Amino acid sequence: MTTQPPGPVLVTGGNGYIASWLVKRLLDRGFDVHATVRDTRDPTRTDHLRAVARGGPGSLSLFDADLLEAAGFDRAMAGCHIVFHTASPLIVRDVADPVRDLVQPATRGTRHVLEAVNRTPSVRRVVLTSSIVAIYGDAADLQEIEADRFDESHWNSTSHAHHQPYSYSKTLAERLAWELAAGQDRWDLVAVNPGLVLGPGLSRHTSAEGVLVMRDFGNGYYRFGAPELEFAIVDVRDVAEGHLRAGLLPRVRGRHILVSETLSLIEIASILRNRFGDGYPFPRQTVSRVAALMLAPRRRIPQAVARRNIGYPLRFHNRYAREALGMTFRPAAESIVDHFRQLVDDGLVSRVRRNFEDARPGSR
Ligand code: NAP
Repeated sequence: MTTQPPGPVLVTGGNGYIASWLVKRLLDRGFDVHATVRDTRDPTRTDHLRAVARGGPGSLSLFDADLLEAAGFDRAMAGCHIVFHTASPLIVRDVADPVRDLVQPATRGTRHVLEAVNRTPSVRRVVLTSSIVAIYGDAADLQEIEADRFDESHWNSTSHAHHQPYSYSKTLAERLAWELAAGQDRWDLVAVNPGLVLGPGLSRHTSAEGVLVMRDFGNGYYRFGAPELEFAIVDVRDVAEGHLRAGLLPRVRGRHILVSETLSLIEIASILRNRFGDGYPFPRQTVSRVAALMLAPRRRIPQAVARRNIGYPLRFHNRYAREALGMTFRPAAESIVDHFRQLVDDGLVSRVRRNFEDARPGSR
């Protein structure tokens, strides 16, 4: 892989859970990193980045930019060779207005960033943070394809604004990016499609989806049993590495599924119990599909989402990322344990620990 930084690089949404690790990796390698955030004066969004920058040989410049506004990206991108476009709203639960809150920022943001790329002659490569949810909509979709697992040739064709709107927003944004990339020949587009990203964050203020999933294990959400749901997991540090390779390797092309392995909720619970003991309300059994469907509305999971995901296996090939990017993936257990440990250390599951006073992490 190229070791010499070719010039400045831009990371949009540089303060995010994934992007912060990417910024750190880039700084560690000596890059001059430009990063956009929504408000450079907000310390909760920027302090951890400034701290990371103090440690690395590279340098960090922060710029204000909002996905909904075209202004801001040109200035941040000036002179950059690589653009990592990670910014996009990630809201899976209780979306108030799917079009306003997800579809518009994801698609307008992609258009604004890529139109700025078209105006910036130094850019040669754009790495888009897409997702496996641009590959499939619901686990049930796997029953409708010829293969036994999803790969980079598959596209989500089942999500829409009122069913899995986050997945829909990512699908539209990735499709738009490929369309805009095809309209020119100066820069090439490389997409990375991570699964559910777990592992420790660099900021205490993150509310990324993985944090919410892990908190559910610590706050009793699954106390009476876990639905038969599977997650395709990948570590945040590996996702940052995948972005770096997608940006620097000269001949990479296309989409790259970043997934280590798929685990069910009950398998995740068993990993957590083995490591942290019985003091947390980790589920011990799977609830039947019928019971899970009945419970879904109380858990604020739409019926259609529950029906098309509970009880269905979820499988992905990660072969292309291993071959084209040379990726190796941490075992999911490592990401799960490291992530939950951070929640314990940050006191984010402390209320639950007080309810289970006799238990301490690691005790059995
Ligand atoms: P995150 O921490 O919530 O990061 C999202 C980033 O997007 C934040 O920097 C956020 O800025 C920014 N953003 C959202 N709306 C914006 C707007 N209107 N204008 C400007 N910036 C905006 O979540 P993440 O997990 O790191 O997600 C980063 C990318 O990875 C996203 O594209 C997401 O779809 C993708 N992804 C995530 C996962 C996962 O499991 N976490 C899996 C696959 C793909 P603020 O901090 O100001 O809100």
